[in-house]
Amino acid sequence: MRSGRTELEAAASAIALTTDDVAGEFTLTGDTKRRSDEEISQILADLHFGTIFSDHMAHVTWTVGEGWGERRIEPYGPIELSPAAAILHYGQEIFEGLKAYRHADGSLWTFRPQFNAARFNASARRMAMPELPVETFLGSLVDLVRQDAAYVPQLPGALYLRPFMFASEPFLGVRPSHRFEYFVIASPVGAYFANGFTPVSIWVTKEYHRSGPGGTGDAKTAGNYASSLMPQQQAADKGFDQVCFLDARTQENLEELGGMNVFVVYRDGHVATPVLTGTILEGGTRSAIITILSEEGVEVEQRTIPLAELVRDISAGEVSEIFACGTAAVVTPIGRLASDDFELQIPSGPVTERIYERLTSIQSGEAEDPHNWMLKIA
Ligand SMILES: *Cc1c(COP(=O)(O)O)cnc(C)c1O
Repeated sequence: MRSGRTELEAAASAIALTTDDVAGEFTLTGDTKRRSDEEISQILADLHFGTIFSDHMAHVTWTVGEGWGERRIEPYGPIELSPAAAILHYGQEIFEGLKAYRHADGSLWTFRPQFNAARFNASARRMAMPELPVETFLGSLVDLVRQDAAYVPQLPGALYLRPFMFASEPFLGVRPSHRFEYFVIASPVGAYFANGFTPVSIWVTKEYHRSGPGGTGDAKTAGNYASSLMPQQQAADKGFDQVCFLDARTQENLEELGGMNVFVVYRDGHVATPVLTGTILEGGTRSAIITILSEEGVEVEQRTIPLAELVRDISAGEVSEIFACGTAAVVTPIGRLASDDFELQIPSGPVTERIYERLTSIQSGEAEDPHNWMLKIA
């Protein structure tokens, strides 16, 4: 068994709310226009990531004086925002990402939303933003998915849910905003791998970092993504799919990709992943994989992984697989790793595939769910 839980894992498992406890927090307001069944089935027949959104969105406003206001399900559409809104100037924003799945019997489920709720509030604290009551976070997911249930595709597709919160006060002074908006929008997505597992290529940047000691690397906030885009673009220009970052303090140790955590599988069977140092985002997928592997009896080290050591171990044939993980793709084999001074091929292998199968079969309802990771929405 794995030793020790992280603060987020402990906070997530302390949330005992059921769907019945949180359903109905949000009230449908505004005109309830929706696409026709015909239009929706055309959308679901040709899915792309994050381009089409369902008919509604969840919305709540927070102000210093009033706290969280009326919980509403509104028609999806453009929002009115002052050009002076603090988000546009100082980037005070956090977000989450999770999916709703349609099981074979038609029921709708989501995977570990309590973890996302706990992480959302951890991100809020770091960004000097108000915490959202957990029942409001979970209620927003349940009520939006129930309202727009027609948009949850058949497996292996899913309805991607994007909760986010930003500073909406029109004020140019530099301090935490006195007004915030919380929204959830929903986008039907297809299987990440349409044609089976396709290994990705990774460029390790030695010039740029997504976060640094004492920074916001462990908060799911827009700025971390903003700082990753230019190195990501440089990697793409060199012909690579993704960029991998090293720690900013020593510039020697593996951290993560712009939006995914990383695991290394060794020939002797053990697995390693970078330890959470405060500059890495703690993934729910990472957490679930550590649990699954530990239960299988696989030794999972959470430790500092020097790039030089990894390069040596790959070259010596000691590393049998490397994969990245996150909600969008679940797991992605890494087939090529390169930087200014090395270029390596890594085979894709059985551990990555087994983890993909284990996780997706729990999410699809085909396998037992011993940890109660799935929450039934409808
Ligand atoms: C969201 C995210 C991940 C993956 O988290 P999951 O909970 O597994 O989806 C990893 N790294 C970064 C930087 C992220 O923003």
